[in-house]
Amino acid sequence: MCIKGIPTTCSSKMLQNFIPPYNATVVEKLNECGAVIMGKANMDEFAMGSSTENSALFVTHNPWDLSRVPGGSSGGSAAAVASDEAIYALGSDTGGSIRQPAGFCSVSGLKPTYGRVSRYGLVAFASSLDQIGPLTKDVTDCALVMNAIAGHDSRDSTSVNQATPDYTRCLTGDIKGLRIGVPEEYFVEGMQSEVKTAIEAAINKLGELGAIIDWKVSLPSTRYALAVYYIIAPSEASANLARYDGVKYGFSAREAENMWDAMEKTRQYGFGPEVKRRIMLGTYALSAGYYDAYYLKAQKVRTLIRREFDQVFEKFDALVTPTSPTIPFKIGEKTDDPVQMYLSDVCTLPINIAGLPAISIPAGFADGLLRAEPKGLPRAEPKGLPRAESKGLPIGMQIISKPFAEETILKIAHAYQQATEWHKGRAEV
Ligand code: GLN
Repeated sequence: MCIKGIPTTCSSKMLQNFIPPYNATVVEKLNECGAVIMGKANMDEFAMGSSTENSALFVTHNPWDLSRVPGGSSGGSAAAVASDEAIYALGSDTGGSIRQPAGFCSVSGLKPTYGRVSRYGLVAFASSLDQIGPLTKDVTDCALVMNAIAGHDSRDSTSVNQATPDYTRCLTGDIKGLRIGVPEEYFVEGMQSEVKTAIEAAINKLGELGAIIDWKVSLPSTRYALAVYYIIAPSEASANLARYDGVKYGFSAREAENMWDAMEKTRQYGFGPEVKRRIMLGTYALSAGYYDAYYLKAQKVRTLIRREFDQVFEKFDALVTPTSPTIPFKIGEKTDDPVQMYLSDVCTLPINIAGLPAISIPAGFADGLLRAEPKGLPRAEPKGLPRAESKGLPIGMQIISKPFAEETILKIAHAYQQATEWHKGRAEV
């Protein structure tokens, strides 16, 4: 997100010396509220990744266990909030990059409806999917940050001209009678049992609070979401990243034979391996002869996925799923296997494909214990447990609703936080 006068690099060598001459709308809106911007956070290069390991700058560690990843691509934002370096942060979410790191770092992260928050000044990854949102310590803060950043912006043609509510007004704690569905397909094969146990317990809690739970909702096209995403997102990325040619701005290779050579060298040096992989995938999917078979087909399946959600939301106010099928993994564990890395977002990508709003909130730890109580209060656990233990690692719950129903999501998430303590856990860094 561009901040006037502050290097805005997208964690890429391509933009290592880029200093924007203007502010993103979200930055301007926060400035108007008197916000103090403390710094820029690390991320996967151009927001491509699920672990922040694709940053060209450095690796970010998970504050709950420094040998593990904080999730990504907004891993720096999530880690900054989880380690008390910041009260809140912003991130962008193209396929899960607010929610998945929020889940991995035990903070609250909201991806608003496509069009709800202006993307003017957000460096584009995949324009039909990208959306900015808050990462905060709790749901009330999410509502407060949304009050500051949401709303129409004539400088973003995809921003929706619709009045924004006061998002704090829905935080009543009362979810009696709300109809919540649990889509079976989101309890995917390979999901860790700790995640399943924690999310089932969290859903039961919502039932105790008076929500009506249906455990047997089905969204059969979900199984195509990952494939659809990895056609559409790289296709759009390949178009968006064509602007980095060493001529207009950003890094420029100086020693070159001619114009083509300069462009090639610029892109060869400026982009990291994952970005190059996406550009190749996208360029291939969009090329003549393959366009119909891949891109067009993916767009059609995208419509099916969206329609399925529309139908389900005729009967339900919200859907609840795990945010991610696993707890935070080890640094380096998935870097050699892009497909394993991509699977990290299997529960979050369908939401972007359909343009829906969704939040991730803390819903437990892998051993069911609250590891560190808020500072100043007695600890639930004796100190001195080895840091590398996987037991105390965070688990996130995702709550999804229909377009522009952020209030329903915040209401449910807030009610859950009134009745539980998970969001009060603090990483001991
Ligand atoms: N992990 C997904 C990807 O690499 C999503 C990233 C994002 O939401 N920015 O594309």
